[in-house]
Amino acid sequence: MSKETNSSALVHSTPRPSREGQGGESAFFNPEVETLSRAEIEALQLERLQQTVRHCMNNEFYRKKFAEMGITPDDIKSLADVRKLPFTTKQDLRDTYPFGMSCVPLRDCVRLHSSSGTTGNPTVILHTQKDLDEWANQVARNLWMVGLRPDDVFQNSSGYGMFTGGLGFQYGAERLGMLTVPAAAGNSLRQIKFIKDFGTTAIHAIPSYVTRLYEVMQQEGVDPRRDTKLKVLAIGAEPHSEEQRKRIEQMMGVKAYNSFGMSEMCGPGVGFECPEQNGLHFWEDYYIVEIVDPETLEPVPDGEIGELVLTTLCREAMPLLRYRTRDLTRVLGRTCPCGRNHIRLDRMRGRSDDMIVLRGVNIFPIQIEKILMQFPEVGTNYLITLVTEDNNDQMIVEVELNEATDDYGKLKGLEQELRHRLGDEILLKPIVRIVAKGTLPVSEGKAVRVVDKRKVFE
Ligand code: ADP
Ligand code: ZN
Repeated sequence: MSKETNSSALVHSTPRPSREGQGGESAFFNPEVETLSRAEIEALQLERLQQTVRHCMNNEFYRKKFAEMGITPDDIKSLADVRKLPFTTKQDLRDTYPFGMSCVPLRDCVRLHSSSGTTGNPTVILHTQKDLDEWANQVARNLWMVGLRPDDVFQNSSGYGMFTGGLGFQYGAERLGMLTVPAAAGNSLRQIKFIKDFGTTAIHAIPSYVTRLYEVMQQEGVDPRRDTKLKVLAIGAEPHSEEQRKRIEQMMGVKAYNSFGMSEMCGPGVGFECPEQNGLHFWEDYYIVEIVDPETLEPVPDGEIGELVLTTLCREAMPLLRYRTRDLTRVLGRTCPCGRNHIRLDRMRGRSDDMIVLRGVNIFPIQIEKILMQFPEVGTNYLITLVTEDNNDQMIVEVELNEATDDYGKLKGLEQELRHRLGDEILLKPIVRIVAKGTLPVSEGKAVRVVDKRKVFE
């Protein structure tokens, strides 16, 4: 099968944003796709799954997998048949590094992204021009959904380069038609100057950076409500709790929408909250969403936590079948008052590899964050350190105080209270230390919340 046949089968039209004035304009960037009924979504998914599986036959890795499992593209007759397909993992991407998962010749690819390879080979994701076009549409769809229009000024305060939050939002915001400022991460004084001088109305950044930006605004006497035109924040790329989001909204005086993405699925744009803020809409014209039990790999019922597994439906360069994201979440619903029937997932608990196992208890950092953020006396920066003391594993939770104080009696009381509340949530009582504002480390990129210094006993 020639590449032309395959790719033309996968092509679907690039929507143009409506540029009609206020009032008459659509609430949807791509009304045709965003307002599909469940039955229509599923019909489209089946058609695209069949095309994708046929397209995978261009790749040796998939051909071998299919042969081992005794399946051919003709076996995909219904959407449920997705379960006949092999899972793929980050390890597969590493094993086939750099280009072994590609389904098109390298000369047809125009971009490469790579995610951080802390151990072993990094992972490589290839894109054709059409993949990039679709990705820009996806991001533009999300930004339109939360009320952004071509008149808005979008400042992307996220890392650029290999990190997909940079170019992903850049092209998406441009596709929507906004004036887009590639401010990149860091240099908060310059960020604030841009926000004021350019009349920035929307920012994308990781949540831990938004709180940093706000601190600098405070130091500079800048009140985001009074001194800026901000109206929307897109926050994502790292796990954060509902409480953290509320904090950010209160600080900045605007709505903050959760944005989910991962390099393997292209980057940002995979899932995004609508104005209802009732979970992340995952775009089912682009992905098949499965939630499975990470042990048995069997589907879990709606509402139950499991591992998110995604199958790409429109990717040319590197389609991924049943990719095990390691992110843990659950299905919240398949309809929404906003008029979109694309599946809604809960905010991510974290990745299964982020889970702390302490004295046999499983804990996610986000559970700790949720409790800390309920106390207005403490700030948003915190650090969890695991140590071994007298042959006993312990958790130390350090959190910064919001304001300066010398009322040590009150601090001791607060530490005790936090210890109790955390004990109720995570089922073991950590040591809590409240430290002065600005003393905990701030990471350049995604926040580092856990440091494990436990001794390993053989
Ligand atoms: P890396 O794998 O190097 O961290 P990615 O940028 O591809 O690079 O990271 C994707 C991961 O980031 C996701 O699998 C998920 O764990 C996390 N992530 C992204 N967006 C969110 C979000 N909105 N909430 C929670 N976690 C997120
Ligand atoms: Zn919605």
